[in-house]
Amino acid sequence: MGRRFVLIGAGQASISAARTLRRNEFDGDIVVIGDEPHIPYQRPPLSKEYLQGEAERDEILAAPEDWFEVEGIELRLGVRATRIDTESLDVDLDDGSRLSADAILIATGGTPRRFAGYGGKAVCYLRTLDDANRIQKALKPDSRVIIVGGGFIGLEIAATARKRGADVTLLEALEVPLERALGLEVGAVCAAVHEENGVRVKTGASVERIEDGDGCVIVTTSGGEAIQGDLIVVGIGIVPNDQIARDSEITVGNGIRVDEFCRTSADGVYAAGDVANHYHPLYDCRLRVEHFDNATRQGAAAAKNMMGTRTEYAEPHWFWSDQYDHSLQYAGHAERWDEIVFRGSVEDRDFTAFYMRDGRVQAAFGLNRGEEVMLAKELIAGRAEVDISALQNDELDFHDIVFGEEEAAGGPEDDAGQAEGDFQFAARSGQVREGTVRRFAVGGLEVAIARYGDQIYALHNLCTHLACHLASGKVEDGGLVCLCHGSIFELTTGIPINPPATRPVKTYPVREVDGRILVNVSA
Ligand code: FAD
Repeated sequence: MGRRFVLIGAGQASISAARTLRRNEFDGDIVVIGDEPHIPYQRPPLSKEYLQGEAERDEILAAPEDWFEVEGIELRLGVRATRIDTESLDVDLDDGSRLSADAILIATGGTPRRFAGYGGKAVCYLRTLDDANRIQKALKPDSRVIIVGGGFIGLEIAATARKRGADVTLLEALEVPLERALGLEVGAVCAAVHEENGVRVKTGASVERIEDGDGCVIVTTSGGEAIQGDLIVVGIGIVPNDQIARDSEITVGNGIRVDEFCRTSADGVYAAGDVANHYHPLYDCRLRVEHFDNATRQGAAAAKNMMGTRTEYAEPHWFWSDQYDHSLQYAGHAERWDEIVFRGSVEDRDFTAFYMRDGRVQAAFGLNRGEEVMLAKELIAGRAEVDISALQNDELDFHDIVFGEEEAAGGPEDDAGQAEGDFQFAARSGQVREGTVRRFAVGGLEVAIARYGDQIYALHNLCTHLACHLASGKVEDGGLVCLCHGSIFELTTGIPINPPATRPVKTYPVREVDGRILVNVSA
């Protein structure tokens, strides 16, 4: 009899695990248990395109609706897993049934932290599709919206509410929004971006109480200010959904504790995503990370470990946030730093901030500089000392700073004339490293050139979903991942293998001759 893997929680980490299992030819049973009634969907659009009304439910699914059937994955929705017998690996469900398993993944995510002391209807939280539908219904162009909490979710909701014409007040208890994640200097830039877009940002303002008023809700701050609103959205963090682990005597502590192989304290039981407090070898500390890419990668690593392929989860973390027309990205982990080094222009909202410690890059935050943040992951993982003046010099090609100039020696210009029939020069071989993607201009077109498994690929640089730059993305398991919205395109065919994109991206014939990459964009 084949093996059966049970994945608890039908969110990003579980779906990524299921996808990885099938891609790696696991032919046993896969059962995904989800307590929400909905077919698995992605959460990031809930505060952005979906809330804005720019994306439909079908466009934000974690996998196409028929994918589960096609891949032979059993989806049990609207049912909750309550306990695991850590000896037999049986899983109890709240419908009274019991499932036996050979390995189990707990990927149960988190629940918004509630504001104590108000139980009325005007306060909303945003975690689920149902929450987003509720906020969307209440959010009118003339609504007075009060957002409590200047974290990423609060700021994204503020941006979307402003785009929908609402009057928005943001209350943040600390000195600036995102202070804990980004520090004072960069947090202040983010606050300014919101103020420029018409948000009233009130900092040092924690909430004393929330009470129903006459046709409105009144939020009273610690400073004694009473603010009237029609809709209050509270975004003050999440608490990990680790009850099932507690009830199964699996070790918890700010989430379910796992090692770098995603193993919990119980043999055969793994955890990943927002619920997992993992040991990270690069930072040599424990972290519980609440980001999409972490859920995707850690879910994938857990799946490989469940199959018996020892896979360490050790890369720098990365996440993005979209606010107004700005793309924010962050890589790495920095709780303390000696200084923040800026590259680019803060005034033009076009910069990368490097969080430095002992001359090394701990983390990088980019405002509209996704490609630099992705490349900065190499510096973070490499832990090498970096020349700060080079980081600051925006005239220098950041790729050369990361990988060294010798690879670009000779430069594309020197080879520009060297066409071979319909194939035109695009780049020197050394400019596209294994597992990376870069953007080049070929015949007046922007082409994303990727190298994976020692093969070279060329695709049109614009994602077919909302035209993000694919070269700001990453290469993974034979796919090119668009980091804006998570679409994945097959490198060979350009066919989308992960939504929201539904249309293929154009691919071009490509050759590598004598250290040069040549692309035929007329094919
Ligand atoms: P989840 O996606 O939360 O999935 C867990 C699922 O398990 C849930 O459906 C839950 O109900 C279910 N469950 C819980 N307990 C049980 C049980 N006992 N039995 C069965 N099912 C159970 N990240 C970014 O990097 N960039 C962004 O721009 C971004 N935007 C976001 C916007 C919003 C509004 C939200 C809410 C999150 C955003 N995130 C973003 C974070 C990202 O979506 C999460 O990190 C990611 O979804 C975590 O995936 P997960 O699988 O760990 O958990």
